[in-house]
Amino acid sequence: MEDVIILGTGCAGLTAAIYTGRAQLNPLVLEGSQPGGQLTTTSEVENFPGFPDGIDGFMMMDNLRKQAARFGARYEHAKIDKIEVEGGIKKLYAGDKVFESKAVIVATGARPRLLGIPGESEMYGGKGVTTCATCDGAFYRDMDVVVVGGGDSAAEEALFLTRFCSKVTLIHRRDELRASQIMADRATSHEKIEMGWNTAPTEILADEKGFTRAVIVKDTQTGEEREIPCKGVFIAIGHIPNTDFVEGMLERDGDGYIVPEIGSQVKTKYEGFYAAGDCVDHVYRQAITAAGMGCQAAIEAERWLAEHE
Ligand code: NAP
Repeated sequence: MEDVIILGTGCAGLTAAIYTGRAQLNPLVLEGSQPGGQLTTTSEVENFPGFPDGIDGFMMMDNLRKQAARFGARYEHAKIDKIEVEGGIKKLYAGDKVFESKAVIVATGARPRLLGIPGESEMYGGKGVTTCATCDGAFYRDMDVVVVGGGDSAAEEALFLTRFCSKVTLIHRRDELRASQIMADRATSHEKIEMGWNTAPTEILADEKGFTRAVIVKDTQTGEEREIPCKGVFIAIGHIPNTDFVEGMLERDGDGYIVPEIGSQVKTKYEGFYAAGDCVDHVYRQAITAAGMGCQAAIEAERWLAEHE
């Protein structure tokens, strides 16, 4: 029986591992298909406090992992399909294997929804295709970029990118943004943002070095195709939280994000069962906020264990 099992090795999970490790709880950290989480797909992290020159995303996650291991965190690869709570005991099922723990912290993150068009995966993460303007926008100074999407994220990303880029083309598959009115008004009236209405991307083109040079888009009304030259494509068509395995046992919102108990950011309806980071938070979605939630969940777990020992 473990004291605490942490699911996920992104910023939330590894921060929880550092804190529970330092609390002598010897956490078992289960990692899934993307060790290190979303940050490992970002070339450089410039907005995490404490790194004046920025830090490579992969290196940062590797540092967090080593830091947690230093305090006793153990890592195991396992994809949990189901969790059951019996009394105070949590049973975590990974195929035929069952883990048992007193406390659990779910920090399985979210994955950006992608378009699934040719060129996207080849250039994703460092070659011009990205899903995070906050992380990567500054690399596109004085360049033309395309943002894909019609929600608040797309409007926000487009507006953020106007700080750096010479021109931002915001393409949306319909003729009306889904974004809130205020965000839509700001985006559509910005002098650096050109709207591409009824426009859906069909392919991302690479230059001879494999970096993005243009997007081919299709008019959703007429079917006509055209090419938009650009150095960056920012995909902002929503996120998919990795929470299917808690379906039916934890409360989730319509998009699949875990809903914490009222008055807490990390507590769930089960005692000793916490959720942290991007599988809960669809608003901020930053490394630092995920780390903060991981810290909160770890402290809650530590206190709960101390009270129930
Ligand atoms: P969202 O509201 O679900 O919007 C996703 C957008 O992507 C929609 O416009 C959708 O088009 C488009 N889309 C989806 N699949 C697509 C595809 N395959 N090809 C092309 N376009 C596609 O997601 P979000 O913008 O990430 O926002 C998520 C939540 O966070 C929302 O509740 C939002 O209000 C909130 N949020 C708030 C703020 C803020 O208040 N500052 C900032 C960011 C996010 P359709 O419209 O045609 O469906």
